Amino acid sequence: RQAHYAAMREVEPVTRDGERITVMMNAGLRDDMPMLNLTGADGIGLFRTEFQFLVSATLPARERQTRLYRDVLDAAGDRPVVFRTVDIGGDKVLPYLRHNDGETEENPAMGWRALRVALERDGLLKAQARALLEAAGGRTLNVMFPMVTEPWEFDAAKAVFDGQLAFLKQQKKLLPEAIRFGAMLEVPALAECLDMLAPRLSFLSIGTNDLTQFLFAADRANPKLAERYDWLSPAILRFLRRVVTTVAPHGTDITVCGEMGGRRLEALALLGLGITRLSITPAAVGPIKELVGKVNLAEIRAAMDSWLAAPPANMRSTLSEWACMHGI
Ligand code: PEP
Ligand code: MG
Repeated sequence: RQAHYAAMREVEPVTRDGERITVMMNAGLRDDMPMLNLTGADGIGLFRTEFQFLVSATLPARERQTRLYRDVLDAAGDRPVVFRTVDIGGDKVLPYLRHNDGETEENPAMGWRALRVALERDGLLKAQARALLEAAGGRTLNVMFPMVTEPWEFDAAKAVFDGQLAFLKQQKKLLPEAIRFGAMLEVPALAECLDMLAPRLSFLSIGTNDLTQFLFAADRANPKLAERYDWLSPAILRFLRRVVTTVAPHGTDITVCGEMGGRRLEALALLGLGITRLSITPAAVGPIKELVGKVNLAEIRAAMDSWLAAPPANMRSTLSEWACMHGI
């Protein structure tokens, strides 16, 4: 397995027509960081900070958070790391963080989770913001907020960071050289307001795991529903195309950080939609870099345009045949 990773590590994800595709990996623990060198990924496109909270018996103290973030940045060196603020609550219940009313939720995935918790219990977000800002002193900090549903939530979360930044400045602490704020697109409602939010974003990251469960009203954790929809369905592909078209004029980077991007045909479809940045599970980095090298971007884009205009009866088999015909 190690040898397999090593063979793919040096592969440059450049398409046949010369486009450099960014292939990053998802992580959540210190122990994931060696995979960055092993896979030769371009960075960490999604660092799930809630993992530290989930493996702790008590709320991780700010100093412990700072240490983790600093270690992660050290391990990444000059490659970017995108820290996602905690996505807890919902089904990721923490014994030390309870609802005000102590009740369980009927629909935790669309319940009191992620930014909804963070904006209400803002002590939690303040501590995390301080930890991230301190850890990234002298470097670039990339932060993204999960489950943004309306633009004001992004502004409110960013304001918490601005407050902590002002405090650190006053304390004459070493500040980050640059701070880039992004939003995750995983709630469909946000897509309708992206034209309003995009000018304020440094980047947008599409979480296709949650996005598709909400788009299809199909619980991502329910195995009975696993066959109910396909990531290659016209509904998803057209939705993503609209997002790309809306955001493009603002020049905002778009990354897909859900599991979809780590699968061969799905990654091919995303390239066809104009998405050139992926963040995927480490095991998929090598195979997807290899796939990129076989693709002619202009060809898959033209093919995708025609499929979206008049979707074939079965997009998966159409795409699969196309890939086969083009030696992919
Ligand atoms: C997603 O929803 O696609 C995502 C990347 O976040 P998570 O899987 O952690 O919910
Ligand atoms: Mg998600």
